[in-house]
Amino acid sequence: MNHLASQPYQFMGADSPIEEAQWVMVGLPYDGTCSYRPGTRFGPNAIREASWGLELYSPFLDKSLENIRYADWGDLELPFGNREAVLTRIRESAEDILKNQKHWIGLGGEHLVTLPVIEAYLKKYPDLCVVHFDAHADLREDYLGERFSHATVMRRIVDLIGPSRLLQIGIRSGPKSEFEWMNQNRTLLSAPSELKKRLDDWKDRPIFLTVDLDVLDPSIFPGTGTPEPGGMSFLDLQNWLSCLQQSHIVGFDALELSPHYDPSGVSNIVAAKVIRECLLLTL
Ligand code: MN
Ligand code: MN
Repeated sequence: MNHLASQPYQFMGADSPIEEAQWVMVGLPYDGTCSYRPGTRFGPNAIREASWGLELYSPFLDKSLENIRYADWGDLELPFGNREAVLTRIRESAEDILKNQKHWIGLGGEHLVTLPVIEAYLKKYPDLCVVHFDAHADLREDYLGERFSHATVMRRIVDLIGPSRLLQIGIRSGPKSEFEWMNQNRTLLSAPSELKKRLDDWKDRPIFLTVDLDVLDPSIFPGTGTPEPGGMSFLDLQNWLSCLQQSHIVGFDALELSPHYDPSGVSNIVAAKVIRECLLLTL
């Protein structure tokens, strides 16, 4: 496994040699299908830079990153104009990481980058389940005629795993048909207690956690392309995430940070902290 592109920063504490790391961070600076405001291609490095302002220790989880071996692989170099080539490149990179018995941490980038990662995971974990945090359901069959978009990514994932292996949290925006679909298929959860109950049914099943950061309220996370008022506080998100402590998380990603929409830089810190908390869940 080669380091892909040299970066001005690496994520704090990500100093395990790649051969020894259990978890590998991969930057996915892609925003090719953003429907409203682009800019997520600048997300991964903004997260890395902001991470240095955080501690390795989380008092909320009483766990420290010092006890996890993780590396930062840098950003994938992606041919922006060619969506198919971008998705192939990401899928092959995820396959490479899984083949080496490591776990994927995706730094977005827009949400479509999750699809090729799930494809790679399903080869290794055919019974993979997905927990999806987002303001948006991302369940459209197509968006402006496009089947592959950050507005359709969960639909494409459902095509692969079926609705019974998907749980969705924080969704508050979308056409009525998406909400009807989520209600019919019981994918949408409204309280952490519900999540705990549903996770009991998935005991020992491998889980991929995908966090579209716009699940957070724009007051705490304005740095994103499609902000949606009425979202979670950071503490709400921590409470939801803590339900996953006993789960078998085999990979995760955090997406849709678009740093230029937040001149304060707080969104970058929030994104880095979400990644720290998700990684600590696996300890
Ligand atoms: Mn979203
Ligand atoms: Mn999304």
